[in-house]
Amino acid sequence: MKNYSIALLPGDGIGSEVSAEAVKVVEAAGKCHGFKIEWVEYPFGAAHYNKTGEILPASALDEMGKCDAMLLGAVGDPSVKPGVLERGILLTLRFHFDQYINLRPARSFESVPCPVSLKDGVTIDSVVVRENTEDFYMGIGAVSEDGSFNKPFEAKRGLYNLLGNLEADFGDRFPAALQIGALTRPGIERVTRYAFDLAKKRGENKVTLASKANAVPFLYGFLDDETKRIAKEYPNIELKIQNVDAMCYQLARTPAAYGVILCPNLFGDIVSDLLSALTGGLGLGAGGNIGDKLSMFEPVHGSAPDIAGTGKANPIAAILCAAMMLDHIGESAGAKAVEAAVSSYLAGDASEKPIELGGNANAQTVGDSVARYIS
Ligand code: ATP
Repeated sequence: MKNYSIALLPGDGIGSEVSAEAVKVVEAAGKCHGFKIEWVEYPFGAAHYNKTGEILPASALDEMGKCDAMLLGAVGDPSVKPGVLERGILLTLRFHFDQYINLRPARSFESVPCPVSLKDGVTIDSVVVRENTEDFYMGIGAVSEDGSFNKPFEAKRGLYNLLGNLEADFGDRFPAALQIGALTRPGIERVTRYAFDLAKKRGENKVTLASKANAVPFLYGFLDDETKRIAKEYPNIELKIQNVDAMCYQLARTPAAYGVILCPNLFGDIVSDLLSALTGGLGLGAGGNIGDKLSMFEPVHGSAPDIAGTGKANPIAAILCAAMMLDHIGESAGAKAVEAAVSSYLAGDASEKPIELGGNANAQTVGDSVARYIS
Protein backbone atom coordinates (compact mmCIF):
# COMPACT_ATOMS: atom_id res chain seq x y z
CA MET A 1 0.00 0.00 0.00
CA LYS A 2 1.54 3.33 -1.06
CA ASN A 3 0.93 6.38 1.13
CA TYR A 4 0.82 9.99 -0.06
CA SER A 5 0.44 13.27 1.71
CA ILE A 6 -1.74 15.79 -0.14
CA ALA A 7 -2.25 19.42 0.88
CA LEU A 8 -5.95 20.26 0.65
CA LEU A 9 -7.07 23.89 0.41
CA PRO A 10 -10.86 23.93 -0.10
CA GLY A 11 -10.97 27.77 -0.10
CA ASP A 12 -14.08 29.86 -0.72
CA GLY A 13 -17.56 29.65 -2.22
CA ILE A 14 -18.12 26.41 -4.08
CA GLY A 15 -14.45 25.48 -3.51
CA SER A 16 -15.22 23.50 -0.36
CA GLU A 17 -18.29 21.84 -1.93
CA VAL A 18 -16.46 20.58 -5.01
CA SER A 19 -13.22 19.59 -3.28
CA ALA A 20 -15.14 17.46 -0.74
CA GLU A 21 -16.47 15.41 -3.66
CA ALA A 22 -13.01 15.13 -5.23
CA VAL A 23 -11.69 13.77 -1.91
CA LYS A 24 -14.57 11.26 -1.78
CA VAL A 25 -13.78 9.94 -5.27
CA VAL A 26 -10.01 9.75 -4.60
CA GLU A 27 -10.70 7.76 -1.42
CA ALA A 28 -12.81 5.31 -3.46
CA ALA A 29 -10.03 5.03 -6.07
CA GLY A 30 -7.47 4.44 -3.30
CA LYS A 31 -9.50 1.52 -1.87
CA CYS A 32 -9.70 -0.06 -5.34
CA HIS A 33 -6.13 0.59 -6.47
CA GLY A 34 -4.15 0.16 -3.26
CA PHE A 35 -3.03 3.62 -2.17
CA LYS A 36 -3.81 5.80 0.83
CA ILE A 37 -3.90 9.58 1.08
CA GLU A 38 -3.21 11.63 4.17
CA TRP A 39 -5.05 14.94 3.58
CA VAL A 40 -3.38 17.95 5.19
CA GLU A 41 -6.17 20.51 5.22
CA TYR A 42 -5.65 24.28 5.32
CA PRO A 43 -8.30 26.89 6.26
CA PHE A 44 -7.02 29.78 4.11
CA GLY A 45 -9.60 31.86 2.27
CA ALA A 46 -12.15 34.60 2.93
CA ALA A 47 -13.61 33.30 6.23
CA HIS A 48 -10.14 32.79 7.74
CA TYR A 49 -8.93 36.18 6.48
CA ASN A 50 -12.01 38.04 7.78
CA LYS A 51 -11.63 36.38 11.20
CA THR A 52 -7.85 36.57 11.66
CA GLY A 53 -6.42 38.96 9.02
CA GLU A 54 -4.09 36.14 7.93
CA ILE A 55 -3.84 35.37 4.20
CA LEU A 56 -1.20 32.66 3.73
CA PRO A 57 1.63 32.44 6.28
CA ALA A 58 5.17 31.47 5.28
CA SER A 59 5.07 28.55 7.73
CA ALA A 60 2.18 27.03 5.76
CA LEU A 61 4.14 27.35 2.50
CA ASP A 62 7.04 25.45 4.13
CA GLU A 63 4.69 22.68 5.30
CA MET A 64 2.86 22.43 1.97
CA GLY A 65 6.21 22.08 0.22
CA LYS A 66 6.70 18.75 2.03
CA CYS A 67 3.50 17.28 0.53
CA ASP A 68 3.37 15.17 -2.64
CA ALA A 69 0.88 17.52 -4.34
CA MET A 70 -1.89 19.95 -3.55
CA LEU A 71 -5.61 20.01 -4.31
CA LEU A 72 -7.27 23.42 -4.27
CA GLY A 73 -11.02 24.22 -4.50
CA ALA A 74 -11.22 27.93 -5.36
CA VAL A 75 -10.42 31.26 -3.71
CA GLY A 76 -12.13 34.63 -3.88
CA ASP A 77 -15.18 36.05 -2.14
CA PRO A 78 -17.23 39.25 -2.47
CA SER A 79 -16.58 40.03 1.24
CA VAL A 80 -12.90 40.65 0.42
CA LYS A 81 -11.53 43.27 -2.00
CA PRO A 82 -10.86 41.64 -5.41
CA GLY A 83 -7.27 40.51 -5.74
CA VAL A 84 -6.43 40.21 -2.02
CA LEU A 85 -7.08 36.46 -1.88
CA GLU A 86 -6.46 35.71 -5.55
CA ARG A 87 -3.02 37.32 -5.46
CA GLY A 88 -2.35 36.57 -1.77
CA ILE A 89 -3.15 32.85 -2.00
CA LEU A 90 -3.47 31.57 -5.56
CA LEU A 91 -0.75 33.57 -7.27
CA THR A 92 1.53 33.38 -4.23
CA LEU A 93 1.30 29.56 -4.36
CA ARG A 94 1.94 29.48 -8.12
CA PHE A 95 4.95 31.80 -7.86
CA HIS A 96 6.38 30.41 -4.59
CA PHE A 97 6.47 26.86 -5.94
CA ASP A 98 7.40 28.09 -9.43
CA GLN A 99 4.46 26.26 -10.99
CA TYR A 100 5.33 27.48 -14.45
CA ILE A 101 2.82 25.40 -16.40
CA ASN A 102 -0.93 25.71 -16.09
CA LEU A 103 -2.26 22.64 -17.86
CA ARG A 104 -5.93 22.76 -18.79
CA PRO A 105 -7.28 19.83 -20.81
CA ALA A 106 -10.64 20.23 -22.56
CA ARG A 107 -12.39 17.08 -23.75
CA SER A 108 -15.93 16.70 -24.99
CA PHE A 109 -18.06 13.89 -23.55
CA GLU A 110 -20.41 12.08 -25.92
CA SER A 111 -23.27 12.47 -23.46
CA VAL A 112 -22.74 16.19 -22.75
CA PRO A 113 -24.17 18.55 -25.37
CA CYS A 114 -21.69 20.90 -27.01
CA PRO A 115 -23.01 24.41 -27.80
CA VAL A 116 -21.53 24.24 -31.32
CA SER A 117 -22.42 21.51 -33.78
CA LEU A 118 -19.74 18.87 -34.22
CA LYS A 119 -19.94 16.44 -37.13
CA ASP A 120 -20.85 12.88 -36.12
CA GLY A 121 -18.01 11.17 -34.34
CA VAL A 122 -15.91 14.36 -34.08
CA THR A 123 -14.79 15.23 -30.55
CA ILE A 124 -12.95 18.05 -28.85
CA ASP A 125 -9.68 16.90 -27.33
CA SER A 126 -7.41 19.86 -26.76
CA VAL A 127 -5.18 21.02 -23.97
CA VAL A 128 -4.18 24.54 -23.06
CA VAL A 129 -0.56 24.86 -21.95
CA ARG A 130 -0.60 28.23 -20.25
CA GLU A 131 2.56 29.98 -19.08
CA ASN A 132 1.85 30.57 -15.42
CA THR A 133 4.37 33.05 -14.01
CA GLU A 134 4.84 35.98 -16.42
CA ASP A 135 2.96 38.18 -18.94
CA PHE A 136 0.42 40.58 -17.41
CA TYR A 137 0.34 38.59 -14.15
CA MET A 138 3.61 40.11 -12.91
CA GLY A 139 1.72 42.35 -10.48
CA ILE A 140 3.75 45.37 -11.57
CA GLY A 141 1.71 48.52 -11.86
CA ALA A 142 -0.03 51.34 -10.08
CA VAL A 143 -3.05 53.61 -10.11
CA SER A 144 -2.33 57.31 -9.78
CA GLU A 145 -4.76 60.08 -8.86
CA ASP A 146 -2.80 62.75 -10.73
CA GLY A 147 -1.34 60.86 -13.71
CA SER A 148 2.19 60.66 -12.38
CA PHE A 149 3.95 57.48 -11.26
CA ASN A 150 7.10 56.87 -9.27
CA LYS A 151 6.93 53.53 -7.51
CA PRO A 152 9.56 50.85 -6.91
CA PHE A 153 8.58 47.28 -7.72
CA GLU A 154 9.84 43.77 -7.13
CA ALA A 155 8.63 40.57 -8.76
CA LYS A 156 10.14 37.39 -7.30
CA ARG A 157 9.97 34.32 -9.48
CA GLY A 158 11.72 30.96 -9.53
CA LEU A 159 13.77 32.13 -12.51
CA TYR A 160 14.70 35.63 -11.35
CA ASN A 161 14.00 38.53 -9.04
CA LEU A 162 12.92 41.51 -11.14
CA LEU A 163 13.61 44.85 -9.47
CA GLY A 164 12.75 48.23 -10.90
CA ASN A 165 10.99 51.52 -10.63
CA LEU A 166 7.78 52.46 -12.39
CA GLU A 167 8.27 56.06 -13.45
CA ALA A 168 5.98 57.92 -15.85
CA ASP A 169 3.99 61.12 -16.15
CA PHE A 170 0.98 61.81 -18.34
CA GLY A 171 1.75 65.54 -18.00
CA ASP A 172 -1.84 66.31 -17.12
CA ARG A 173 -3.66 66.04 -13.82
CA PHE A 174 -6.05 63.14 -14.27
CA PRO A 175 -6.32 59.72 -12.63
CA ALA A 176 -4.61 56.96 -14.62
CA ALA A 177 -3.41 53.37 -14.32
CA LEU A 178 -0.32 51.57 -15.62
CA GLN A 179 0.36 47.84 -15.58
CA ILE A 180 3.39 46.12 -17.04
CA GLY A 181 3.70 42.67 -18.58
CA ALA A 182 6.97 40.79 -18.89
CA LEU A 183 8.22 37.77 -20.83
CA THR A 184 11.70 36.28 -20.68
CA ARG A 185 13.66 33.83 -22.81
CA PRO A 186 13.94 31.17 -20.03
CA GLY A 187 10.26 31.62 -19.18
CA ILE A 188 9.21 31.07 -22.80
CA GLU A 189 11.69 28.25 -23.35
CA ARG A 190 10.43 25.99 -20.57
CA VAL A 191 6.73 26.35 -21.40
CA THR A 192 7.34 25.94 -25.15
CA ARG A 193 9.35 22.75 -24.66
CA TYR A 194 6.62 21.42 -22.36
CA ALA A 195 3.97 22.11 -25.03
CA PHE A 196 5.98 20.49 -27.83
CA ASP A 197 6.88 17.46 -25.70
CA LEU A 198 3.19 17.09 -24.85
CA ALA A 199 2.20 17.25 -28.54
CA LYS A 200 4.79 14.53 -29.22
CA LYS A 201 3.37 12.39 -26.39
CA ARG A 202 -0.15 12.86 -27.77
CA GLY A 203 1.03 11.83 -31.24
CA GLU A 204 0.18 15.23 -32.74
CA ASN A 205 2.09 17.18 -35.37
CA LYS A 206 1.05 20.73 -34.48
CA VAL A 207 1.19 23.24 -31.62
CA THR A 208 -0.88 26.43 -31.94
CA LEU A 209 0.40 29.53 -30.16
CA ALA A 210 -2.10 32.21 -29.08
CA SER A 211 -0.43 35.54 -29.72
CA LYS A 212 -1.18 39.16 -30.64
CA ALA A 213 2.09 40.53 -31.99
CA ASN A 214 0.35 42.93 -34.36
CA ALA A 215 -1.15 44.96 -31.50
CA VAL A 216 1.25 44.23 -28.63
CA PRO A 217 4.55 43.95 -30.54
CA PHE A 218 7.11 44.14 -27.76
CA LEU A 219 5.73 41.35 -25.60
CA TYR A 220 4.13 39.11 -28.19
CA GLY A 221 6.55 39.84 -31.04
CA PHE A 222 9.28 38.61 -28.69
CA LEU A 223 7.09 35.65 -27.76
CA ASP A 224 6.64 34.69 -31.43
CA ASP A 225 10.38 34.92 -32.17
CA GLU A 226 11.44 32.94 -29.12
CA THR A 227 8.79 30.27 -29.67
CA LYS A 228 9.84 29.88 -33.33
CA ARG A 229 13.43 29.39 -32.17
CA ILE A 230 12.51 26.55 -29.78
CA ALA A 231 10.11 25.00 -32.31
CA LYS A 232 13.12 24.28 -34.56
CA GLU A 233 14.15 21.61 -32.01
CA TYR A 234 11.02 19.69 -33.05
CA PRO A 235 11.22 19.23 -36.85
CA ASN A 236 8.17 16.92 -36.93
CA ILE A 237 5.87 19.33 -35.15
CA GLU A 238 4.57 22.45 -36.86
CA LEU A 239 4.26 25.70 -34.91
CA LYS A 240 1.17 27.62 -35.94
CA ILE A 241 0.95 31.17 -34.59
CA GLN A 242 -2.53 32.64 -34.42
CA ASN A 243 -3.80 35.95 -33.08
CA VAL A 244 -5.80 35.17 -29.95
CA ASP A 245 -8.95 36.86 -31.27
CA ALA A 246 -8.84 34.78 -34.46
CA MET A 247 -8.21 31.71 -32.30
CA CYS A 248 -11.35 32.38 -30.21
CA TYR A 249 -13.35 32.80 -33.42
CA GLN A 250 -12.02 29.57 -34.92
CA LEU A 251 -12.36 27.68 -31.62
CA ALA A 252 -16.07 28.49 -31.56
CA ARG A 253 -16.47 27.37 -35.20
CA THR A 254 -14.12 24.36 -35.46
CA PRO A 255 -12.97 23.42 -31.94
CA ALA A 256 -12.01 19.89 -32.96
CA ALA A 257 -9.23 21.29 -35.15
CA TYR A 258 -7.14 22.16 -32.07
CA GLY A 259 -4.81 19.93 -30.04
CA VAL A 260 -2.10 21.52 -27.92
CA ILE A 261 -2.68 25.27 -27.52
CA LEU A 262 0.26 27.22 -26.12
CA CYS A 263 -0.69 30.50 -24.44
CA PRO A 264 0.86 33.34 -22.50
CA ASN A 265 -0.70 33.76 -19.05
CA LEU A 266 -3.63 36.12 -19.75
CA PHE A 267 -4.75 34.59 -23.07
CA GLY A 268 -4.51 31.12 -21.50
CA ASP A 269 -7.01 32.07 -18.81
CA ILE A 270 -9.49 33.36 -21.39
CA VAL A 271 -9.07 30.61 -23.99
CA SER A 272 -9.51 27.87 -21.37
CA ASP A 273 -12.84 29.33 -20.17
CA LEU A 274 -14.01 29.33 -23.80
CA LEU A 275 -12.96 25.71 -24.17
CA SER A 276 -14.77 24.81 -20.93
CA ALA A 277 -17.95 26.32 -22.36
CA LEU A 278 -17.46 24.40 -25.62
CA THR A 279 -17.05 21.09 -23.82
CA GLY A 280 -20.11 21.51 -21.62
CA GLY A 281 -19.52 24.06 -18.86
CA LEU A 282 -17.06 25.47 -16.33
CA GLY A 283 -18.00 22.64 -14.00
CA LEU A 284 -16.14 20.22 -16.29
CA GLY A 285 -12.85 22.12 -16.75
CA ALA A 286 -9.94 20.67 -14.79
CA GLY A 287 -6.47 22.12 -14.44
CA GLY A 288 -3.08 21.61 -12.89
CA ASN A 289 -0.36 24.08 -11.93
CA ILE A 290 2.77 22.10 -12.63
CA GLY A 291 6.32 22.79 -11.58
CA ASP A 292 9.44 20.98 -10.46
CA LYS A 293 8.55 21.45 -6.77
CA LEU A 294 4.98 21.18 -5.41
CA SER A 295 2.30 20.95 -8.13
CA MET A 296 -1.21 22.14 -7.40
CA PHE A 297 -4.43 20.97 -9.02
CA GLU A 298 -7.43 23.31 -9.24
CA PRO A 299 -10.50 23.62 -11.47
CA VAL A 300 -10.62 26.24 -14.23
CA HIS A 301 -13.62 27.80 -12.50
CA GLY A 302 -13.48 30.17 -9.56
CA SER A 303 -15.44 30.23 -6.29
CA ALA A 304 -18.76 31.09 -8.06
CA PRO A 305 -20.28 32.88 -5.03
CA ASP A 306 -23.58 33.23 -6.94
CA ILE A 307 -24.27 29.50 -6.59
CA ALA A 308 -22.37 28.69 -3.38
CA GLY A 309 -24.53 26.80 -0.89
CA THR A 310 -27.27 26.08 -3.44
CA GLY A 311 -26.07 22.59 -4.45
CA LYS A 312 -25.78 23.74 -8.05
CA ALA A 313 -21.99 23.45 -8.14
CA ASN A 314 -20.84 20.75 -10.50
CA PRO A 315 -17.90 18.93 -8.85
CA ILE A 316 -16.78 17.08 -12.00
CA ALA A 317 -14.02 19.64 -12.71
CA ALA A 318 -12.61 19.15 -9.20
CA ILE A 319 -12.92 15.36 -9.55
CA LEU A 320 -11.03 15.47 -12.88
CA CYS A 321 -8.39 17.65 -11.17
CA ALA A 322 -7.99 14.86 -8.63
CA ALA A 323 -7.44 12.44 -11.54
CA MET A 324 -4.69 14.72 -12.91
CA MET A 325 -3.18 14.83 -9.44
CA LEU A 326 -3.18 11.03 -9.13
CA ASP A 327 -1.48 10.75 -12.50
CA HIS A 328 1.10 13.33 -11.39
CA ILE A 329 2.02 11.44 -8.19
CA GLY A 330 2.37 8.19 -10.14
CA GLU A 331 -1.01 6.56 -9.47
CA SER A 332 -1.93 6.36 -13.15
CA ALA A 333 -4.28 3.36 -12.72
CA GLY A 334 -6.19 5.33 -10.06
CA ALA A 335 -6.26 8.37 -12.36
CA LYS A 336 -7.66 6.33 -15.25
CA ALA A 337 -10.26 4.79 -12.92
CA VAL A 338 -11.46 8.26 -11.88
CA GLU A 339 -11.66 9.45 -15.52
CA ALA A 340 -13.52 6.30 -16.55
CA ALA A 341 -15.93 6.69 -13.61
CA VAL A 342 -16.70 10.28 -14.70
CA SER A 343 -17.35 9.16 -18.31
CA SER A 344 -19.60 6.29 -17.17
CA TYR A 345 -21.50 8.55 -14.81
CA LEU A 346 -22.03 11.21 -17.48
CA ALA A 347 -23.23 8.58 -19.94
CA GLY A 348 -25.86 7.41 -17.41
CA ASP A 349 -29.40 8.57 -16.60
CA ALA A 350 -29.89 12.21 -17.71
CA SER A 351 -31.97 13.16 -14.64
CA GLU A 352 -29.09 12.14 -12.35
CA LYS A 353 -26.68 14.52 -14.08
CA PRO A 354 -25.36 17.70 -12.40
CA ILE A 355 -27.79 20.65 -12.31
CA GLU A 356 -25.32 22.57 -14.54
CA LEU A 357 -25.89 19.95 -17.25
CA GLY A 358 -29.68 20.02 -16.96
CA GLY A 359 -30.09 17.20 -14.42
CA ASN A 360 -31.23 17.20 -10.79
CA ALA A 361 -28.11 16.06 -8.95
CA ASN A 362 -26.50 18.37 -6.40
CA ALA A 363 -22.75 18.31 -5.81
CA GLN A 364 -22.92 15.63 -3.11
CA THR A 365 -25.09 13.32 -5.22
CA VAL A 366 -22.72 13.72 -8.18
CA GLY A 367 -19.73 12.81 -5.98
CA ASP A 368 -21.55 9.75 -4.53
CA SER A 369 -22.51 8.56 -8.02
CA VAL A 370 -19.01 8.98 -9.51
CA ALA A 371 -17.49 7.20 -6.49
CA ARG A 372 -19.87 4.24 -7.10
CA TYR A 373 -18.56 3.90 -10.68
CA ILE A 374 -14.92 3.53 -9.53
CA SER A 375 -13.56 0.12 -10.38
P1 ATP B 1 -12.17 33.28 -11.51
O1 ATP B 1 -11.68 34.51 -12.16
O2 ATP B 1 -11.70 33.08 -10.11
O3 ATP B 1 -12.03 32.04 -12.38
P2 ATP B 1 -14.80 34.00 -12.35
O4 ATP B 1 -15.21 35.36 -11.98
O5 ATP B 1 -14.29 33.74 -13.73
O6 ATP B 1 -13.75 33.44 -11.30
P3 ATP B 1 -16.30 31.64 -11.73
O7 ATP B 1 -16.26 31.51 -10.27
O8 ATP B 1 -15.39 30.76 -12.50
O9 ATP B 1 -16.09 33.15 -12.12
O10 ATP B 1 -17.78 31.39 -12.22
C1 ATP B 1 -18.37 31.95 -13.36
C2 ATP B 1 -19.82 31.43 -13.41
O11 ATP B 1 -19.83 30.08 -13.90
C3 ATP B 1 -20.43 31.37 -12.05
O12 ATP B 1 -21.16 32.53 -11.85
C4 ATP B 1 -21.29 30.14 -12.05
O13 ATP B 1 -22.62 30.46 -12.36
C5 ATP B 1 -20.69 29.27 -13.14
N1 ATP B 1 -19.88 28.17 -12.57
C6 ATP B 1 -18.57 28.21 -12.24
N2 ATP B 1 -18.17 27.04 -11.75
C7 ATP B 1 -19.23 26.22 -11.75
C8 ATP B 1 -19.45 24.86 -11.35
N3 ATP B 1 -18.47 24.10 -10.84
N4 ATP B 1 -20.70 24.34 -11.49
C9 ATP B 1 -21.69 25.07 -12.00
N5 ATP B 1 -21.55 26.36 -12.41
C10 ATP B 1 -20.34 26.94 -12.29
